[in-house]
Amino acid sequence: MRHLQPWARYCSRCGTDGFVAVDERHFHCRACHFDYYHNLAAVVCALIRHQDRIALIVRGRDPGRGLLDLPGGFVDPGESLEAAVNREVREEIGIVITKPRYLFSAPNTYPYGGVTYSTVDAVFETTIDAVPALTPNDEVVALRWRTLGEIDLGEVAFESIRNTLGRLRESATALTGET
Ligand SMILES: [Zn+2]
Repeated sequence: MRHLQPWARYCSRCGTDGFVAVDERHFHCRACHFDYYHNLAAVVCALIRHQDRIALIVRGRDPGRGLLDLPGGFVDPGESLEAAVNREVREEIGIVITKPRYLFSAPNTYPYGGVTYSTVDAVFETTIDAVPALTPNDEVVALRWRTLGEIDLGEVAFESIRNTLGRLRESATALTGET
């Protein structure tokens, strides 16, 4: 047995230095036999289309401050994926979306504060008729509207989002024959 995650060395129930990883999400205390499952988290991200462009946020915070990202975030306990994507978009950029359409999902990891979180990112798509002005906030300092082909992937904050945008480009190319 290994200490797969350094933060999980001590048992959170009895404090013993004998908390071991059975596998990448199952931890067990040899002293008090406490079992803990560090299950993966659900994340949603939104592809908001207006005409031939999609919305990219400019991140206001690290990681990736100043770089591009899709609107989105972690799903709250008790929340559906659809409710989460509606909430995140409203909170981050003030746009009220209806009937987000599920596209696909991708496994991902988010290292944060010394803990590596395994996630599954669900991508939703929606179309809006008009672009409201953004009120900049701590999380989002600006909004950029780009066609898929215009996006410089080097400006995108996270590998998972680069992969998502790459996948969308491929499917757009397959559908239209354009690049
Ligand atoms: Zn214990």
